[in-house]
Amino acid sequence: MTAYPQTPLTARLAELRADFPILAQTVRPGVPLIYLDNGATAQKPRHVIAAMSDYYERLNSNVHRGVHSFSEKATAAYEAAREKLRAFINAAHAREVIFTRNTTESVNLVAQAWGNAHLRPGDEILISEMEHHANIVPWHMAAERTGAIVRAVPITDDGRLDMDAYRALLSSGRVKMVALTHVSNVLGTINPARELAALAHAAGALIFLDAAQSAPHMTIDVREIDADFLAFSGHKMLGPTGIGILYGKLALLEAMPPFLGGGSMIDRVTLTKTTYAGLPQKFEAGTPAIAEAVGLGAAVDYLNAVGLEAIHAHEQAIIGYTLERLSEIAGVTVYGPTAEARAGLVAFTLRGVHAHDLSAGLDSAGIAVRAGHHCTMPLHDKLGIPASTRASFYLYNTFEEADKLVEAVEKVRAFFTR
Ligand code: PMP
Repeated sequence: MTAYPQTPLTARLAELRADFPILAQTVRPGVPLIYLDNGATAQKPRHVIAAMSDYYERLNSNVHRGVHSFSEKATAAYEAAREKLRAFINAAHAREVIFTRNTTESVNLVAQAWGNAHLRPGDEILISEMEHHANIVPWHMAAERTGAIVRAVPITDDGRLDMDAYRALLSSGRVKMVALTHVSNVLGTINPARELAALAHAAGALIFLDAAQSAPHMTIDVREIDADFLAFSGHKMLGPTGIGILYGKLALLEAMPPFLGGGSMIDRVTLTKTTYAGLPQKFEAGTPAIAEAVGLGAAVDYLNAVGLEAIHAHEQAIIGYTLERLSEIAGVTVYGPTAEARAGLVAFTLRGVHAHDLSAGLDSAGIAVRAGHHCTMPLHDKLGIPASTRASFYLYNTFEEADKLVEAVEKVRAFFTR
């Protein structure tokens, strides 16, 4: 027995880890993989891999088109996945769940389709200093097209959204869209989604939540939050790459023009005019990622079986432990709030050592982390650092792995300060 804290997953961890074949891989002979880059992409359990192979082996056809039996089966599998995603975020209607390629495409969809229809010169879009580029650049592009202005909510010294500044920015009366991350991919900050939404709505604005780092790790209820739009990626939540989700309130999606045009999204096409299909097809032009939708549905089943609350509690325990141990290393600076206010990830710097050298040192110990600006250049500018190293945990990570991370950081420090 170890002295590690118990979590709701402790007793099942060995069994859960066995579901993820890649965790049995070595980085080099004799060096097992310690995968702490879950914020970038998560590993896939056999269930997801099997669901996708099974789809290709038994059902494969195009959806929504043919009247033949296999097309009907493929369509049923695709729509069953949509229903799983609906339930996962407690949306009222499956038609509010649009399959996209990833979070990035979901933001672009709204910034273009909604933005072009609703933004006027002088209107304001609020983002924050802690956004991922995926929730900055599409709004810059929308502003360039429409004459709207992008403003950023600042962060506090401990890496939270400055709520007073948020209220002040909303009071301009010109904010049409608030686009904020639910969980920061660098600071780990869990933003108060419901309060942010209530304040946005009171100011007459809509709210778009980037849930790329929250949906994989905690229960999301779009109705409880009262989100107008919410986006996340399949690959960060045990699902495949190439599929993401855009949730939007029915009335908003219905009133929006399409994003991409082509097959499957039409009602009728003549040589001079197109009328569009209803939801969700209006936003799913072309052949969708069918096997990926099926795989994502299997990922949702897996997450539900493990339990989002248990996953969140497990990750909070590990991150609390990691933060404490990292703070014992001389020269380590951790960015972001204390453990209670953050998700299971930590970005840090080591004095005198570049993030890339640190991560190369960690790689030699088999530890996969991410180094760089993590697609948050404005945040790194604000923090006054060019780069950081990020360790991000998931349900299958262990306290032993956190210890190995800390020991490896200490070893790199000792090497560079010889
Ligand atoms: N937002 C956040 C907060 C993220 O962490 C990421 C992924 N790093 C994205 C958006 C973009 O996700 P994707 O690359 O899957 O579109």
